[in-house]
Amino acid sequence: MKKFGLLGKNISYSFSPVLHKKIFNLYSIDAEYNIYDLKEENSIESFLNSIKKEGVLGLNVTIPYKTSILDFVDELSPEVKDIGAANCIKFCNNKIIAYNTDYFGLVKTFEKMGLNLTNKKVVILGSGGAAKATIKALTDLKAIIYNVSRNPNKEKIKLKNTRTISYEDLFDMSGYLIINATPVGTFPNIDKSPVPQSILQNFDFALDLIYNPKETLFLKFAHSKNKQIENGLCMLISQGVKSEEIWNDIELNYEKIYDELIDEIYK
Ligand code: NAP
Repeated sequence: MKKFGLLGKNISYSFSPVLHKKIFNLYSIDAEYNIYDLKEENSIESFLNSIKKEGVLGLNVTIPYKTSILDFVDELSPEVKDIGAANCIKFCNNKIIAYNTDYFGLVKTFEKMGLNLTNKKVVILGSGGAAKATIKALTDLKAIIYNVSRNPNKEKIKLKNTRTISYEDLFDMSGYLIINATPVGTFPNIDKSPVPQSILQNFDFALDLIYNPKETLFLKFAHSKNKQIENGLCMLISQGVKSEEIWNDIELNYEKIYDELIDEIYK
């Protein structure tokens, strides 16, 4: 039996085991997916050595280890080099290779929304790990990128083609797509939005990386202005599917897996 899992801290709530077990069932993969809750960053190295001995073939990596894991891997995929964070590692020929499948989850989400991003103005709210993966995906798709931060002068994100602006600047802007990459509006704080309703009027599409609740207040604002909206579920499922493709060296049907899972999640 193949072994995979999720490394993070305080992750008992994670949806990942459900997602990966669904893929194992659909594709008859004889495998298990376990939660590895690691309390201390300084035990990552010994943890990796022990699971390598156990025969684990791949891991997803989540908060707070997406950056610190890079100190313990042998190779970085091209997107990890640009983003500076990984959410997936593969044990391969005695080496550890790091990937960022959130990046692929975002590309799939843009495809699902039917977007053509070339030379289009896109605004991303927040400047954490998810925003960095979003900026990399949008850069590769040749969008014109504005990153909104509560502290724009700190210049946390230094990727090409990205201008950092304040929330005040946003009131004078319009564009193609606006993305919420902050945690504002996540369950149980569902009565919060990172921007007021008037801002959503100025964009054609709105994407929230949050998937619980299904429709955040940010998306409700956009919906009420008749804009096309999408939540973070496609990204979540697609990053997991891409991880399985990398670990097992196979191609999977993203749409089929999404359709199988959506009712289970929002029942
Ligand atoms: P993070 O690093 O904790 O925060 C993202 C950024 O949001 C921060 O850097 C900050 O940027 C801004 N922010 C934080 N608290 C805020 C507040 N109270 N008001 C306004 N802005 C605030 O989180 P992350 O890992 O990047 O994730 C961001 C969101 O994406 C989360 O909701 C997460 O669940 C979601 N996500 C979804 C998926 C998926 O598969 N769907 C994957 C990854 C993440 P500034 O300081 O620059 O303002």
